[in-house]
Amino acid sequence: MQATSGRVAHLLENALAQGRDKKIVVCGAGGFIGGHLIADLRRQGYTDLRAVDVKPLDQWFQRFDDVDNRCLDLAEKANGYEALEDAAWVYNLAADMGGMGFIENNKALCMLSVLINTHLLMAAQELGVERYFYASSACVYNGEKQLDANVTPLKEADAYPALPEDGYGWEKLFSERMCRHYREDFGLVTRVARYHNVYGPFGTYDGGREKAPAALTRKVIEAKRSGKHEIEIWGTGEQTRSFMYIDDCLVGTQAILHSDIEEPINLGSNELVTINGLVSLIEEIAGIELKRNYNLDAPKGVNGRNSDNTLIAQYLDWEPGIRLRDGMERTYRWIYDQMVQQQANGHAQPTVFTLA
Ligand code: NAD
Repeated sequence: MQATSGRVAHLLENALAQGRDKKIVVCGAGGFIGGHLIADLRRQGYTDLRAVDVKPLDQWFQRFDDVDNRCLDLAEKANGYEALEDAAWVYNLAADMGGMGFIENNKALCMLSVLINTHLLMAAQELGVERYFYASSACVYNGEKQLDANVTPLKEADAYPALPEDGYGWEKLFSERMCRHYREDFGLVTRVARYHNVYGPFGTYDGGREKAPAALTRKVIEAKRSGKHEIEIWGTGEQTRSFMYIDDCLVGTQAILHSDIEEPINLGSNELVTINGLVSLIEEIAGIELKRNYNLDAPKGVNGRNSDNTLIAQYLDWEPGIRLRDGMERTYRWIYDQMVQQQANGHAQPTVFTLA
């Protein structure tokens, strides 16, 4: 865990001092960010952790034997109550989601995640949860502000008037507002971060739900290992994005939960890169150069998106700062090892890591 400002360090140290033995529940803990969060809380010395996910245990990215691991479908109301029993702090990272290829083709499924957050909020309020975190997304932002690859970074106010990503983005925007109204109407302490493209090891890199950094890394590794030096890129490659390394996401998520920031706030890097630039960076790491084939019919998302970090810098005197090059090197190494292991074992994607 890197606490990179005095204010963030203070928030996190205070939280640990007060909450070392409180029950902390991470929903979506079998997934990428949730798995890292459980690992990080455990590393810091929190003793009473509950990890909840709908996936069978053997499909969780990270799993620890000394954590109360539960397989529950949190879309079901009763399961939300079971998951949050005796909980003091709750992180809701559970959602049916994936990269553009998944969210553009599964709008109804994405919107059904509304059941998860709604039932969890109901349970949190009734059971007396002290602090509740909701993982929102940059997909809530108005699409008309993202038409140009030459972006103006998105400020929090740019979510309204509302024209979010269809399906997934509407669900996130609605759930943000549910958090707001549970805070205003019932006094539940809710905190909301709008994540901008999180990447890193221990996440999906194939199968259809992977996001751009993992998908492109996998494709470069496939090309390197097969000797077929070509790569398919979705869209023109001129789309711009920023990508936040998982360690920054963990720091920001915990700092926001323990802060007094009541409105949804950006949590993202503002190191802007084109998709072509990202491919070049991965090629450099891999030590190869590939012929690029552009698939203009594939899902490509908005033309440009970046995070305006003015607010988070004001509140926390901190913003995500891990350089894309450094994070991608670590991600590349992990995906490379998984793919080698996958070939050796003859498995599909090996996703089980018991790091007790
Ligand atoms: P992920 O898909 O790896 O993890 C989400 C987890 O939620 C999965 O393990 C899934 O099984 C679980 N889940 C889905 N439906 C469930 C249900 N009904 N009951 C219980 N668990 C359920 O995704 P992630 O990248 O770790 O994202 C975590 C959160 O952050 C999500 O809310 C996501 O929308 C949000 N987010 C992520 C990114 C990103 O770049 N990764 C960007 C913006 C927002």
